[in-house]
Amino acid sequence: MAQVLETEEHKALRAAVSALGNRYGHPYLAKVIAEKSHPTELWAEAAKLGYLGVNLPEEYGGGGGGIAELSIVLEELGAAGCPLLMMVVSPAICGTVIARFGTEEQKQEWLPALADGTRTMAFGITEPDAGSNSHRITTTARRAEGGTDWILSGRKVFISGVDIADATLIVGRTADARTGKLKPCLFIVPRDAPGFGRRQIDMELHGAEKQFELTLDDVRLPADALVGDEDAGLLQLFAGLNPERIMTAAFAIGMGRYALSKALVYARERTVWREPIGAHQAIAHPLAQAHIDLELARLMMQKAAHLYDAGDDVGAGEAANMAKYAAAEACVKAVDQSVHTLGGNGLTGEFGLASLITASRVARIAPVSREMILNYVSHQTLGLPKSY
Ligand SMILES: Cc1cc2nc3c(=O)[nH]c(=O)nc-3n(C[C@H](O)[C@H](O)[C@H](O)COP(=O)(O)OP(=O)(O)OC[C@H]3O[C@@H](n4cnc5c(N)ncnc54)[C@H](O)[C@@H]3O)c2cc1C
Repeated sequence: MAQVLETEEHKALRAAVSALGNRYGHPYLAKVIAEKSHPTELWAEAAKLGYLGVNLPEEYGGGGGGIAELSIVLEELGAAGCPLLMMVVSPAICGTVIARFGTEEQKQEWLPALADGTRTMAFGITEPDAGSNSHRITTTARRAEGGTDWILSGRKVFISGVDIADATLIVGRTADARTGKLKPCLFIVPRDAPGFGRRQIDMELHGAEKQFELTLDDVRLPADALVGDEDAGLLQLFAGLNPERIMTAAFAIGMGRYALSKALVYARERTVWREPIGAHQAIAHPLAQAHIDLELARLMMQKAAHLYDAGDDVGAGEAANMAKYAAAEACVKAVDQSVHTLGGNGLTGEFGLASLITASRVARIAPVSREMILNYVSHQTLGLPKSY
């Protein structure tokens, strides 16, 4: 168990990222969102300090660490009120998949740029008619007649950050594997590829990163746009999806900690009777519970990251699901209780907590919903029969 807990290096990383996050803080992110801009300065500085590529191999400009280190970075930025959502996608999913399954040319082209923050990659798997059931995705890749190029057609929905990403890693299936159990294959689609269209979705979310509906209308891609093997199946997809779940847990824990820290400052000071409101157990106990839940979720996240970094993909899969579930639930509860602790001020723009109510729900829905994790644990872990 001692291996799962943090090393001195991890603690030092946590402290250093926390210092960076607190230099920017929530006011920075709030300004970026109000100006409909992007957190480019923070992204660039985090990259320069080696935080964005901390999980990527050293020979390609990364830090040589793993998801354990990357999740520390995202959690601490979130706890400072300025999380970088694209970290869940660009270094964690895309960087990992390319590092594990890409060709030498793909690694040379993408990994140093993802690590130094000069390029970003989005990730698209969700489809309007498949939703949680990825086995139903219909985005299809076929070989161009008489050549080696690929032609990609389909639709995606809710894909984050496509506007700022240089390319999107799109999950499709080959024409010969059009139906049945998903045999995914992954393609790097440049933002300006002809036939690659995007429409911004009107989300009620206060975030810098936008979500898009994508159309792939016979997008022609060179043979080397394919990452990994077209027949490698679910293994190479989950090489990216498990880090995504661990990073979503980090995102949720960071947000929960940020909300809780605001509530604690308020509860210690706000006095409407003789004692500050934090002395009332009706206020104190739910905050204590929120803290415990966040700590427990972090422990599971550390376990998942440890298993993943140790190369245990199967063990990491179960732990990553459980960590994402626990972190999302802890985050939703922490945010809810924090808003409540501030009374009317919980809903003011000045304190900026109310918008986290919507934001905290994201971790419950994406990248895999609460119910689908409960299904996974029911079937895979507990051996119960399926209803669907
Ligand atoms: C802010 C945001 C950002 C996102 N970014 C990305 C991205 O970058 N890339 C990407 O690919 N996707 C992204 N997504 C999509 C996200 O992964 C999906 O929304 C999620 O997988 C759920 O799919 P769905 O919305 O189609 O819901 P549905 O699958 O339609 O599910 C609707 C409801 O039904 C429940 N349900 C479905 N099936 C079952 C079942 N068998 N048993 C019990 N309950 C069930 C679900 O739990 C859910 O509550 C993002 C979503 C959001 C909200």
